[in-house]
Amino acid sequence: MNNNNNGASGNASEFDYVIVGAGSAGCVLANRLSANGKYSVLLLEAGPKDTNLWIHVPLGYGKLFKEKTVNWMYQTEPEPGLNGRQVFQPRGKVLGGSSSINGLLYVRGQHEDYDRWRQHGNAGWGYDDVLPYFKKAENQQRGGDKYHGVGGPLPVSDWRHADPLSEAFVAAAAETGIPTNPDFNGAAQEGAGFFQTTTRRGRRASTAFSYLRPAKGRSNLHVETGALAQRLLFDGRRARAVEYRQNGELRAVRARKEILVSSGAYNSPQLLQLSGVGPAELLKTHGIDVVLDAPGVGNDLQDHMQVRLVMRCAQRITLNDTLNHPLRRIMAGARYAAFRKGPLTIAAGTSGAFFKTNPRLASPDVQIHFLPFSTDKMGEKLHSFSGFTASVCQLRPESRGSLRIKSADPTVPPEIRINYLATETDRAAFIDGIRILRKILSAPALKPYVVDEAYPGSKVSSDGDVLDYCRRTGSTVYHPTSTCRMGNDPLAVVDQRLRLRGIEGLRVVDASVMPDLMSGNTNAPTIMIAEKASDMILEDAR
Ligand SMILES: Cc1cc2nc3c(=O)[nH]c(=O)nc-3n(C[C@H](O)[C@H](O)[C@H](O)COP(=O)(O)OP(=O)(O)OC[C@H]3O[C@@H](n4cnc5c(N)ncnc54)[C@H](O)[C@@H]3O)c2cc1C
Repeated sequence: MNNNNNGASGNASEFDYVIVGAGSAGCVLANRLSANGKYSVLLLEAGPKDTNLWIHVPLGYGKLFKEKTVNWMYQTEPEPGLNGRQVFQPRGKVLGGSSSINGLLYVRGQHEDYDRWRQHGNAGWGYDDVLPYFKKAENQQRGGDKYHGVGGPLPVSDWRHADPLSEAFVAAAAETGIPTNPDFNGAAQEGAGFFQTTTRRGRRASTAFSYLRPAKGRSNLHVETGALAQRLLFDGRRARAVEYRQNGELRAVRARKEILVSSGAYNSPQLLQLSGVGPAELLKTHGIDVVLDAPGVGNDLQDHMQVRLVMRCAQRITLNDTLNHPLRRIMAGARYAAFRKGPLTIAAGTSGAFFKTNPRLASPDVQIHFLPFSTDKMGEKLHSFSGFTASVCQLRPESRGSLRIKSADPTVPPEIRINYLATETDRAAFIDGIRILRKILSAPALKPYVVDEAYPGSKVSSDGDVLDYCRRTGSTVYHPTSTCRMGNDPLAVVDQRLRLRGIEGLRVVDASVMPDLMSGNTNAPTIMIAEKASDMILEDAR
């Protein structure tokens, strides 16, 4: 193997498929590829088993933002559009990956997203092509129909709590002309309503829970945790093995059929670059032998940004009031323990809305996440006052960034540049989105609940001041994608079957292959991608 200079591969074990990363995508692959019993599958995961109790309680995601035992806890470089601030980037490092620490919202994006992917030459990825895979994955609590599946591994459920504030938000949106939509994943996304979540009876359904656990007894599936893949090893341009470190030892494992890189939008391009597949100039700077000059690896990084408005509430009905009060907190905990209901089932949004900031647009360009609590920063202490939050997220940012290794050492975090707010369209979407959100927040249905806007406050009203607030406080919605983009152009990294262009025996299967960022939350689409990839891999194995 031409880039193996340490002899580790000499006593390598062998599997048909080696999957690197047990996240949203990797667990799906592990289940589907091992299902027919014909192939041996190894799943390598850098993080530990998902034993942290907070993983399984929906509201527990707030406890995992800065929990380094299960989180890579990356930072961007200073972002020019955000006054040079570095933006914290949590990513799951545990069985289930980011699906074990995420906000649980089940949002597929718009039909138009997938038709755009198809329109850009990605045959097989139009909405009609991907819908069967969303349905195959799904076990929809409300039952099956044209848009929803039942009997799949992934439980999709309604929220198990009634909250007057979250309901008032939907009513207020209707008062401003935004129709109520009972299903963001049905015929159309536009409107206001309640999010569904990837939960089962009030507990998180990560892909470790929904895909890996049911497959764990299979003798042909082997899972290794605490196993950090350091690089891929090649024979010429054929990927042959994965070198990984576990318990301080360097090991290697061969793949008879294929290596599947599912390490997420930051770690997949990092692993490829460490292995000699990436921009030749960058690799040479770090003394890495170039296997393939692939300038697109790490390009086109996109992410959803959010800007939060915090409202002071006139009634003591927010989660701040519940969790800041010792007795009420104990009662909420007891209610959850007994019935798996109540405020501990809150995910990253209760209700929300999708709307257009400009009537000329064909589909919504903004998503609102509404939450009946408030903090200075996500994952930090709740405010001592009664408060609630509504955030603006631009759905299709034009800004593009990059992911590049900083060192040939696989334990050194990569350089992440997102370039938030780099274009006029992106800046205008936030200014207009906040203007529309403020209209909703001052509509009659919310009047009984609002004292005033705590942040940014009514003094921040001109376009310039609002943009300044976005630059000072904008943060991520945790949706990085497209760093190993699918496509046909010279910078595309994978083809429509997710095979690495120019290399044999290697695919990337995770959020990094999205041709561009879709208009919603990225977990369900990543699971759909892995479902579709599994079929393609099994077809190609015949
Ligand atoms: C805090 C947070 C909140 C979010 N909220 C939502 C939400 O509400 N709804 C939604 O739809 N999406 C949400 N997302 C996004 C969504 O969870 C991700 O887009 C999705 O999980 C990405 O899946 P993936 O398979 O690409 O990567 P991941 O799920 O991140 O999986 C990658 C896996 O690979 C492992 N790995 C990486 N490098 C290596 C290596 N070298 N060797 C071995 N293993 C490795 C990682 O440890 C990880 O387990 C959120 C994400 C975060 C972090």
